[in-house]
Amino acid sequence: MATARERGVHRPAALAAYRAFFQQGDASALPDAFDGWIAPIVRRMEEEVSEGTTIKFCQRLDRQLGVPASDRAADRVPLGVLHQDDRVRHLDIESVIIPMVGRTGRKTHTLCVSSQVGCAMGCGFCETAQMGLIRSLTPAEIVAQWWAATFVEKVHIDNIVFMGMGEPLDNFDAVIGAIACLTDHHGCRVPMSNITISTVGRVDGLRRLVEVVKRDGWKRLGIALSVNAPNDEVRDAIMPVNRRWPMAELREVMLDLMAVRGTRKILFEYVLIPGVNDADEHAHDLAAWLEPFGKREGKSPLGLLNVIPYNPRRNSPWPAPEEPDVEAFVARMNELGVYTKRRRTKGRSQMAACGQLGTADIRGRRFVAAEHHG
Ligand code: SF4
Repeated sequence: MATARERGVHRPAALAAYRAFFQQGDASALPDAFDGWIAPIVRRMEEEVSEGTTIKFCQRLDRQLGVPASDRAADRVPLGVLHQDDRVRHLDIESVIIPMVGRTGRKTHTLCVSSQVGCAMGCGFCETAQMGLIRSLTPAEIVAQWWAATFVEKVHIDNIVFMGMGEPLDNFDAVIGAIACLTDHHGCRVPMSNITISTVGRVDGLRRLVEVVKRDGWKRLGIALSVNAPNDEVRDAIMPVNRRWPMAELREVMLDLMAVRGTRKILFEYVLIPGVNDADEHAHDLAAWLEPFGKREGKSPLGLLNVIPYNPRRNSPWPAPEEPDVEAFVARMNELGVYTKRRRTKGRSQMAACGQLGTADIRGRRFVAAEHHG
């Protein structure tokens, strides 16, 4: 294979163009081959919240750039069919910029990125699940969401969370490639500790993540697990992924992950759904499952439970929880010895809150059945 030099690429010039692109947003610095690399923003919405302005923006992707999420997905969803299917009129992905104010009063912005168009995981409480999986994103399409937030929306992004559309571990290589680019000190320069992968718990992907975290510089990558249920019975019902990898197996791999991450905390997310997972016996079962991540002799716990009040999706069978019930559940978990906080809801009215990302155009399509991961 020809070297970069033989192909006429002059390294210092290439590095200067790369820096100009990622540090100053100068797209003209790139060769013509990169034209259209940043998908255009076709819709955006703003919502005022107490911390500032939440911005949701949608980029329209190139339909020809498809990569299947996995061989299994490719079996079920041949790319040709997807790309010629008129019912999928546009491949739009959504990203959300969320303002935050920390304990010291410092204002920061978190970018919630998508890793797939749609999602195959079929979680019962999630808007995106209604679309099924359309296709996975390339590393470039993931990084382009950061670029658009930074240089088109002109917001300094402090943190990045993979909590938008898609299951990041269902698109493992592209997500890890995107993080390598986002943290590159010649380019985007986002600190590894400011990036969090949020997963439903694909155990095969988590096993691979254990190996990635062992690499130099990756230990501080943030990990969040959407637990959402106190036991297999409830989890099977609302998260089909659990039928493939039950909670005992999931906990094993999370402990392996904890062991290689030093003192970095693991975030456990729990979407509180009235009548589904909010009873007192649920709190007990959950505390028992989380016990190994809890208090250690003279040290702070390595697990933090984040309770998220359910945001009803369109046509949801469940309502949002009442505020006193959320407070009571959080207090109960703390009483049971689990380090627990609650997340404030932002963007509910824009359908931009967690589990509500989904493009109305293609909502309702189910290219991959829920039992795909069952
Ligand atoms: S909650 Fe996440 S993993 Fe589950 S269906 Fe929605 S986008 Fe997919």
